[in-house]
Amino acid sequence: MLKPLSDDAAALKLTVLRHRTFSTIVLNPEHWALFSLSISARALRNTMSGAQVLSSSTSRPTAQNFMDIDSRMQSASVVALSCRMVGGGSDGSLDICARVCLIDQEENIIFHTYVRPQIPITNYRYERTGISPEYLRDAMPLKQAQRKIQDFLCNGEPIWKVRSKGTRARILVGHGLDHDLESLEIEYPQLLIRDLANYPPMMKTSKLSNSLKYLTQTYLGYEIQTGIQDPYEDCVAAMRLYGRLKAQPHSGDYASGSGEVQNRNNFPAWRQRELENMSPAELLEISASDYYCWCLDAQRV
Ligand SMILES: [Zn+2]
Repeated sequence: MLKPLSDDAAALKLTVLRHRTFSTIVLNPEHWALFSLSISARALRNTMSGAQVLSSSTSRPTAQNFMDIDSRMQSASVVALSCRMVGGGSDGSLDICARVCLIDQEENIIFHTYVRPQIPITNYRYERTGISPEYLRDAMPLKQAQRKIQDFLCNGEPIWKVRSKGTRARILVGHGLDHDLESLEIEYPQLLIRDLANYPPMMKTSKLSNSLKYLTQTYLGYEIQTGIQDPYEDCVAAMRLYGRLKAQPHSGDYASGSGEVQNRNNFPAWRQRELENMSPAELLEISASDYYCWCLDAQRV
């Protein structure tokens, strides 16, 4: 059984844990008890928030039907993206992007549009998306939305340069961005992606990622995705979480800065057994970070 942590202890533990990879923490209950992020929402907010208090809801109204790339936003170096999906395929389970929003760090909308899909929609998922056929009839074709977003993200850089360090291309923040980008048919390098769904400090265990709704409630203290879901609201939540994580002070820096993404879910059986037999000290030894810590973004010029 885990003893409840005091807020101070929890805060300290979080700081220590932020740079430990969770990939090695598997199965053994003692190890789990040692490393587990057992932490109250209040302690976490105290740790993460500093003096800033966020409003309990986003201040903007639902984004209007269409807002083209705002040229005043050209200086944005970090942007958040979110899509709303409707259903395609015979059973309506295929996710198809029907609405997309892009915001800057000040939560201004850079781009918003409904998207006309390339294949028939079989389920509008109206209760969650609020999207009905008339929204999409004259909406921007997918290819056009894709090109606009891709161009904006690359920020005038040729694609080969986007993949190199020191690029002018923009950092892209979101939750489950693989899925969003796939639905938009956009390719973007991992080096520039900050995805809350697979950022190790945001993963409750080594194998599970948490929903944006959960992360927002737990770490920011307010509800999103109640009723009809607005992609602007998701963008704001993702950007706020990113900002908090990036700015969170912590001691030491174990970040490799390599930006390598490891597959954490597929240990071979022999490796699993090996890990289970390790002592806590041995586990700590091999647990130096193998992920890119977002605090390094604060040092980018
Ligand atoms: Zn760091």
